[in-house]
Amino acid sequence: MATFRRSSRREQHCRYLKRTIDFARRQEVNRAVPCFGALLLVRNQVLMQTASTPGSETAPPIHAEAQLLSNVRRTIPNHVLAKAIVYCSDEPCVLCASEIVRSPIRHVVYGRPAAPFVGGESILRAKQAHIRVEGPFIEVQQY
Ligand SMILES: [Zn+2]
Repeated sequence: MATFRRSSRREQHCRYLKRTIDFARRQEVNRAVPCFGALLLVRNQVLMQTASTPGSETAPPIHAEAQLLSNVRRTIPNHVLAKAIVYCSDEPCVLCASEIVRSPIRHVVYGRPAAPFVGGESILRAKQAHIRVEGPFIEVQQY
């Protein structure tokens, strides 16, 4: 009898993180300005993917997580978001982390650390935030 190894949770996270990074890369207009991505997973279904926009002289930059939160607020009920996983290509910044804490989302997986810049991981991991945080994942750092 053939045996099939179920993919581990870690492998699943890396698969979705790579998908998040791929999506962001495809949105890059100018390679000098890297894009960051976010993905919303609910019960193993990808409901939304966003990428950062670098901004211009007339428009401010928009972070992938902020874009995702703005989109889901209008379209996905809170009880669904409470069961979702948000995948972030990179450690969310302080502002996005604060937005996530204020949202119904309670599970965040991120790929690459923000260092040497200051990221928002400590905000997400604060005990009172009640968010499950997984990351960084070394497997996707050189991806
Ligand atoms: Zn941000």
